[in-house]
Amino acid sequence: MKWHIKGGLFVLWVCWLALASAAFAASRNYVVQGDIVYTPACGEAKILPQGYLVVKEGKVQGAYDKLPKDYEGWKKQDCRGKLILPGFCDLHVHAAQYRQIGLGMDEALLEWLEKYTFPEERKFSDTAYAERVYGDFAAELAKCGTTRSAVYGTIHRQGAEILARKLTERGLGAYVGKVNMDRNAPDYLCETSAGSLAETERFVKAPVWTDLVRPILTPRFAPSVTPELLQDLGALAKRENLPVQTHLSENKAEIQWVAELFPKIREYPKVYEHFGLYGDTPTLMAHCIHMSEAQIKEMVSRGVYPVFCPESNLNLTSGIMPVRKFLQAGAKVALGSDVGAGHDLFMPHVIVRAIQVSKVRAMDYPEEKALTLPEAFYLATKGGGSFFGKVGSFEPDYDADFLVVKTPKALAERSVQERWQHFIYHGTPEDITARYVAGKQLRLP
Ligand SMILES: [Zn+2]
Repeated sequence: MKWHIKGGLFVLWVCWLALASAAFAASRNYVVQGDIVYTPACGEAKILPQGYLVVKEGKVQGAYDKLPKDYEGWKKQDCRGKLILPGFCDLHVHAAQYRQIGLGMDEALLEWLEKYTFPEERKFSDTAYAERVYGDFAAELAKCGTTRSAVYGTIHRQGAEILARKLTERGLGAYVGKVNMDRNAPDYLCETSAGSLAETERFVKAPVWTDLVRPILTPRFAPSVTPELLQDLGALAKRENLPVQTHLSENKAEIQWVAELFPKIREYPKVYEHFGLYGDTPTLMAHCIHMSEAQIKEMVSRGVYPVFCPESNLNLTSGIMPVRKFLQAGAKVALGSDVGAGHDLFMPHVIVRAIQVSKVRAMDYPEEKALTLPEAFYLATKGGGSFFGKVGSFEPDYDADFLVVKTPKALAERSVQERWQHFIYHGTPEDITARYVAGKQLRLP
């Protein structure tokens, strides 16, 4: 008798488990109805008024103007009258500079680093400070609809691990880097070469990584890393198959400095290439403002991503990246806010700035046509998103990263395309009413 009761309980438990997992799977399968806009190709905006985005277990099944019969019984979210857009991808952002946004913008790069950035980054040796600032940063990123990012911490390993945890707590996707600096840095931010490598090796094995938040090697830039450490980081990238992010050719004084520091190599991109940090594994290079045609060609052939950071191009008077040249050469261009040299985490404003600075450049170089909105939007979604895999579009099998966005009632009679344009140029994070990463809704504080 006792065994019968036990057996019965077991069967009940198995049934409950089956029902619970079916309910869980069903909750991850749903249809969102709204005004869908995405860019499957650079410059091509696909618009589906009152369309249907079908999500199955975190992946996009498809975006349709009419709901296919197979999905008619699925749970439906009614977002009619709102825009459904892919989440934004910020491929260059310094989390540790979040508290210095807007400070010292009258300085040029190297002076700005000395006076503002390094003293701020020093504070992240204090883990309590890192908890506070990185917590605020991750919350703001989520609020802005930046569902994926490539983020710099500081040299402090524990701080960078806290950053990874804070991004995970918000449900965001990201690559997170612990910065390496073993020369040409203030004493308080200068590591020993061996110490920097050991801490990086510990960092990439830390128990903080998930499917969505992963480590990326982050030598700050060639001038602040010795050849020995660059060599070791290149070997580590190869051994552990780790991606790499750093800065390249932002400022003419910096390029000259690199030539002096590496007299045998001289050319800035060749320095990274020499040490196995230039496309041997997936690589992001922020800025790429002053580069020759041959260097651009080489970058494309190595599959390295140039990251266009239009706000810092202007704020630090570094120059304007010739984005059209990169696109024409077939480069995988991404967009970055570059906070704190950029002053805005909200990617729609970075998209606008990208278009504006490309227009300024086109005034002097008419052969370099300015970016259009569907082009710049692509860079901030599918372009940068491709660094994470199938991210940034609503084509089948893409991760279901999307935003629900309200637009003003006064524009209700306007076309979907016009309301989308209005949001990008004039919207705010408050207009985003829901954010999803891999099909899961983000929790805001
Ligand atoms: Zn930067």
